Formats: sequence, C-alpha cells, structure tokens
Amino acid sequence: MSTPLPEPSWRAWHDEEPIRLGISSCLLGAKVRFDGGHKQDRYLSDVLGEWFRWVPVCPELEIGLGVPRPSIHLVQGEPHPRLVEPRSGEDLTERMESYSRARVEELGDRDLDGYILKRASPSCGMERVKVFGAGGMPAKDGVGVFARILMARWPLLPVEEEGRLNDPQLRERFIEHVFCRHRWRTLVRRGLTRRSLIAFHTAHKLLLRAHNETGYARLGRLVAAAGRVPDAELFRSYEEEFNRVLQSRATRKRHANVLYHALGYLREALDPFEKQEAIALIEDYRNELLPLVVPITLLRHHVAKHGVPYLQGQLYLEPHPRELMLRNRV
Ligand code: SF4
Repeated sequence: MSTPLPEPSWRAWHDEEPIRLGISSCLLGAKVRFDGGHKQDRYLSDVLGEWFRWVPVCPELEIGLGVPRPSIHLVQGEPHPRLVEPRSGEDLTERMESYSRARVEELGDRDLDGYILKRASPSCGMERVKVFGAGGMPAKDGVGVFARILMARWPLLPVEEEGRLNDPQLRERFIEHVFCRHRWRTLVRRGLTRRSLIAFHTAHKLLLRAHNETGYARLGRLVAAAGRVPDAELFRSYEEEFNRVLQSRATRKRHANVLYHALGYLREALDPFEKQEAIALIEDYRNELLPLVVPITLLRHHVAKHGVPYLQGQLYLEPHPRELMLRNRV
C-alpha cells in the first residue's frame, strides 16, 4: 500500500485550471489523415486523457486540404525544405507557413502546458521527417512545417512526438516538464511575487538537482539576487533557466545523489537498519536493479512517518500523479 504524503504534493500547486496540451488531431482518433484514417494512440487518448485537456490541431485540414487528399511531402529547399504535393507539383509551403504562424500565436493565448506531435509527418513531425531530393533515398533529417514554426515561436514549451513517448525515460521527462510548467503558470496566474518565487524554487530544489546541478546552482543565484534586479527581469530569467534545467536528462547517477542528499535529512530519525536498507535500495537503483519508484517509496514512507518539513515540501517525491506510474520503469 502506498504511503500518503502530507501536502504539499503536486496537487497542492494546482487549482481548477486544467493542464492543456496541444496535439495532432489524428492521434486522438480523428479521421483527418490524407487517406481518411486516423492514428489513434490509446495511451494518449485513454491514459493521459484522464489528466490533460486536449487542444487538437490538424494543420493540413486547417489550411483547407480535404479528406481524403493527395499525400504531401518535404522536398529539399533553402532555408527550409518545401512542402509539396508531388502528384500535381503544387508548392504548399507559403500557405502552411502563414497559417502556422497565425495558429501558433493563437495557441499561445490558449495557455498550453505542452504539445504532442505526430511523428514523421511533413506538417507535424518534430524530427527525422523524410526530405526528398533530386533522386535516391530521402534524407530523414527534416522537421514538419507546422512543428518547426511551433517550436521556434514557443521554445520553452515541452514538445514531444507520440513515438518517442514509448520510451519510459522520455515519457517521464516530458510529463514531469508539463507538470512543472503548469505549476509555474499557476503561480504566474495567482500573482508572481519574489516571495512566491522563493517558495516555488524551494519546493523544486531536489527535482532540479536530479536534472542538472549547475543549472540548479544558477537558479539559486538568481533567486538570491531577488530585490537587486527588476522583478520582471528576475522572473523572465528564472522561467528560462528553469525550463532549460528540466530539458536536461535526469540520470540514475544524479537521482542517486539526490536520494542520498534526501536521506541526509533523515539521519537522526532512522535507526542503523533503516539507513542500511535505504542505502541498499539506492545502490540497487543506481545499478539498474530497481526502478526509481522503489527508493522513492521508501523515502516517502520515512518522510511521512517522521515529518521532516523540508522533505515534505519537495515535489521531487511526487512531481506528477502516482497513478501514471511514470517512475515504475525508469
Ligand atoms: S499528422 Fe498532423 S497534418 Fe497529418 S493528419 Fe495528423 S494532425 Fe493532420
């Protein structure tokens, strides 16, 4: 049985505002593909759909290409590949680019916390999209036109493809980032102050350290400078650095260091057997014998039992819903 952790867990930072994610419509089962089909991903629609409010977008439909429609693809071009319908030779690049610029602006107003794109699409693919040249095999190094404009306009937005989300590490990192971004935006909506920034930073300390110690230290220096730089500049710099840190990979080694650091706060509370047990689990996790959820669950148990205030406030122990079981496979 899981141990209930006293607030604040991730829930304490959320209010009634939903977590909104943009998504390629076909991934939710909408029959909008060129052949009249869809590419429904059950994990997205049925599992993540319990937690997120989707904002579906089909760029090809929205520029007026019907269903069914001739297939389109990317063709080599400068500065970016062109979007072409090979059968007629029609070049759709300008049409798609001007639509995408307007649409991603509008999506900014919808307060998105992330975006999930359809892989390999000349419109939606975020990487490794086929680009056809004069002859031979197409190079798999393109980015869909809509995806390129979306990522350039909102560089701090967590973006992933449905295929990459089958990787447990990428999935955990993406969803953790989505929840972190949502907490940040909730803080901003409630009225960001120096005081609330410090509370936000304090609650994310262990989580940030698991990603990048150097970035965590930079954030600490920014928070320490509060009051010496204009608030608007402080908040903007913090948001940028916060997102940068979350984009770096949280390795087993870094997690193990954070777990040991957390264990230090329980030094006085644990007896020698409990300490040895915790150390053994952290080492088993570091050596890839156990998933992260195991040492975290033990820590949560000790934190709940002994009530260490600093650790009780650390979102690292529960950054997203346990029901998603994201740490069971990393
Ligand atoms: S990949 Fe994008 S453009 Fe293609 S059908 Fe899906 S949502 Fe529409």
